[in-house]
Amino acid sequence: MVAEADGSGSRVSSDVDVVVVGAGFSGLYLLHRLRQLGFSTVVLDAAGDVGGTWYWNRYPGARCDIPTTDYSYSFDPELERDWTWSEKYATQPEILSYLRFVADRYDLRRDIVFSTRVESAVWDESATRWRVRTENGRELSCRFYVMASGCLSLPKAPEIDGHDRFRGETYHTSRWPHEGVDFTDKRVAVIGTGSSGIQSIPLIAAQATQLTVFQRTANFSIPARNGPPSAERLAALESDRDAYREAAKRSRGGVPGDVTEVAGAYATDEVRRARFEAAWEAGELLEILGVFNDLMLSPTANEVIAQMLREKIRSIVVDPDTAEALCPKDHPFGSKRPCLDTNYFQTYNLPHVRLVDLRKQPIVTITESGIVTTDESFEFDAIVHATGFDAMTGPVVAVDIRGRDGVSLREKWADGPSTYLGLTTAGFPNFFTITGPGSPSVLSNMAVSIEQHVDWVADCLDQLRARGFETIEPTPLAEAGWNQHVDDGASITLYPTANSWYMGANVPGKPRTFLPYAAGVDVYRAACEEVVDRDYLGFSLAGRGVSQCNDGVIRRLQVDVAMVLQVMEELQLPPMELMTVEDARALMAMTEAVRPPGPVVGEVVDGVLPGAAEDLPYRLYRPATPGPHPMVAYFHGGGWVLGSLESDDPLCRDLCVRSDAVIVSVNYRHAPEARFPAAADDAFAAVQWIATHAKELGGIPGQLVVAGWSAGANVAAVACRLARDAGGPEILGQVLLTPVVDARMDRPSYVENAEGYVLTAPLMSWFWDHYADPADRDDPKASPLVGDLSNLPPALIVTAEFDPLRDEGVALAEALAAAGVPVDHLAARGHVHTSLTMVDVVLSGADLRAQMGEVMQSFFRATVKA
Ligand SMILES: Cc1cc2nc3c(=O)[nH]c(=O)nc-3n(C[C@H](O)[C@H](O)[C@H](O)COP(=O)(O)OP(=O)(O)OC[C@H]3O[C@@H](n4cnc5c(N)ncnc54)[C@H](O)[C@@H]3O)c2cc1C
Repeated sequence: MVAEADGSGSRVSSDVDVVVVGAGFSGLYLLHRLRQLGFSTVVLDAAGDVGGTWYWNRYPGARCDIPTTDYSYSFDPELERDWTWSEKYATQPEILSYLRFVADRYDLRRDIVFSTRVESAVWDESATRWRVRTENGRELSCRFYVMASGCLSLPKAPEIDGHDRFRGETYHTSRWPHEGVDFTDKRVAVIGTGSSGIQSIPLIAAQATQLTVFQRTANFSIPARNGPPSAERLAALESDRDAYREAAKRSRGGVPGDVTEVAGAYATDEVRRARFEAAWEAGELLEILGVFNDLMLSPTANEVIAQMLREKIRSIVVDPDTAEALCPKDHPFGSKRPCLDTNYFQTYNLPHVRLVDLRKQPIVTITESGIVTTDESFEFDAIVHATGFDAMTGPVVAVDIRGRDGVSLREKWADGPSTYLGLTTAGFPNFFTITGPGSPSVLSNMAVSIEQHVDWVADCLDQLRARGFETIEPTPLAEAGWNQHVDDGASITLYPTANSWYMGANVPGKPRTFLPYAAGVDVYRAACEEVVDRDYLGFSLAGRGVSQCNDGVIRRLQVDVAMVLQVMEELQLPPMELMTVEDARALMAMTEAVRPPGPVVGEVVDGVLPGAAEDLPYRLYRPATPGPHPMVAYFHGGGWVLGSLESDDPLCRDLCVRSDAVIVSVNYRHAPEARFPAAADDAFAAVQWIATHAKELGGIPGQLVVAGWSAGANVAAVACRLARDAGGPEILGQVLLTPVVDARMDRPSYVENAEGYVLTAPLMSWFWDHYADPADRDDPKASPLVGDLSNLPPALIVTAEFDPLRDEGVALAEALAAAGVPVDHLAARGHVHTSLTMVDVVLSGADLRAQMGEVMQSFFRATVKA
């Protein structure tokens, strides 16, 4: 073992178990854990001391924006006992002192090499070790290589023409001189109004004779209301520290707190206002981001808060033009990290402070003496660049990391990062990132996320060693599944709609992809734990004479579907098939009362039409666009036993808007009161009546599609067959959402998805038993997959991945195609039987419903052309 002296005089080995890059929150705790486990470890950092973020970011006003009681380590109760924060949001010097205190307490510095930038890390396949090289020529060899290099540690270089020409003083907020800067009697420019700009501007204004702020994007900010740590929070922490810390780990954002059930899109104005004002007064980011449960999901809910925040800005800033320029209007609230401030907006009321809106007059160049915009020329003594970071991926790919076969990570991630759990990446054995892309990281209290990652990595190395494994690497399948899951989680939120650093949009040429994990700290932690519980699912492990690969995808359900299933599990409802029909119907009615209503349509009219044996209620949904419209005869789901005009009301509204057609939802007779073939006969009678009464219903005669969900799709399909056999009416298309089409419940999806996905195999048996005698079930009027399928209307069949009925829907699509019927098959990945009907609850179903609407429109267009 070679030992070398580092800059600080300590001696470190060049041949170790683990090399860690970074001595911030992450690297310090990782070193401590690995040491405890007996792994020889070296930490390398370009900085001159510990602290990471808090070593570098010394600009005036630099503070945390998560309360410091929460933004602290929790791994050692004695450490917590021995440190007291002086403020709710501590300053940079205080946080740096804390991290120095931690380094001293656990004697960490002796294994840290400072002022040392890592340049490259190359996997040596023959030795199964990483070769790490530093900028000053040092080489190290290690079994495991960890980038604890921070999400916000690589400052973004100024992009402005002439930035190096300026002869006055130039500063970057994240590379602030340690001795501080005195702006007294100086004319100062600040470029950038992100978090660092918003924190520093009031303090720079207090010193400078003249301050000009150059703003490209206005940002949302709320008053921090700093002061002593919250007495409430301290009391909660001190009364039961373990419970408090555990609650943080199981929370959405890494800080304990209640999750509201109030949806901003549907709340009254009074409720909206009251919740907003309370959050404004609280001065906590996670509080205002949690003001509604749909804040980051619903544009309507988000705009409510954005409007109120703009009102606040207008009420604070005296000059109306400046106020307007400071009002963010180009991104939803929260889609860029909002800021906490102390007198930020008030600063613009000072006579020597001016805002220059770069949207109106962009900077042309920086000159030797100042800044020239398209409209004006400014002279300055100092320019402060508060222009942020190449976030998350930047510091990782700044190092030339090469995995198996010399593959470069920079190249692998050229189109965006690809990770498993945000911790590892395929092709790079024994390589870990702490708070890497694809993990909650910057969307969370990072102290909590860092501890979770460090613990996961340390426990993993411990287990590998105990079981004789030398390498660990994720499989391509597991990684692709995780990337998909991360994308799915982000795509239902408003995050991707902003040009933010979360999206890599602040760095020219960086691929646009949402970098963190949006579904929450709690959900994420559960996934990481489950990977381990399932014996490192998705990882290949290997050692001398031992290997294992337990391949698979950890999360296949859509994020919102999983949340719905979890809520249902928590309700602990008895299985429906064990209920009486009356109780099952009552339960369904209860759930209908508490769901979102669905979109507004032009008109809703209830009526009655003649069924096969008696009058049937119907509900007609008319689009807001001028009519007449094409028509859809729609049949609700519910296993022929449950369901009503109410049950599918939000879905009908949604389809009405998306298809721009009149939807006539028909309440056919139900079993067991009216058994087979009552529902099927009613459906056909209704289709006939709707076709012949199109004109008086505001429809276009001859423009009719038949649609249904589940058992409703069953009777819709049957109605199409009966119409074909009867020679009319003409039906332009059939849209069958997760249809029941075959009474034989023997396809693989009945086994794979038998339980746990709302519609269960036993419940389906219960439905069939109520509806049809076994002897009748092979009748094509009960099982429309059976028999002659030729000359049926073109079909759209939607199947859900986690549905017992999936495979019979697939079988129908195949059988129709084989019979010469044009068929579109839409496979709803990660969805369950009920997903797509849950309008405004399962948001990931919206795109699929949009596709259903488009296909309906294409059925109508096809005839218009013909
Ligand atoms: C101004 C500011 C305020 C913040 N406030 C909060 C907050 O309130 N709450 C919150 O949760 N998060 C906050 N953050 C995020 C913050 O980065 C994390 O909370 C946390 O400090 C990250 O710790 P880390 O150890 O993972 O990374 P860092 O603290 O960034 O440390 C990484 C270290 O790695 C070193 N490094 C990187 N690359 C190399 C290399 N190639 N060679 C050698 N060394 C290298 C860097 O020099 C750095 O010292 C804030 C960030 C900033 C910039």
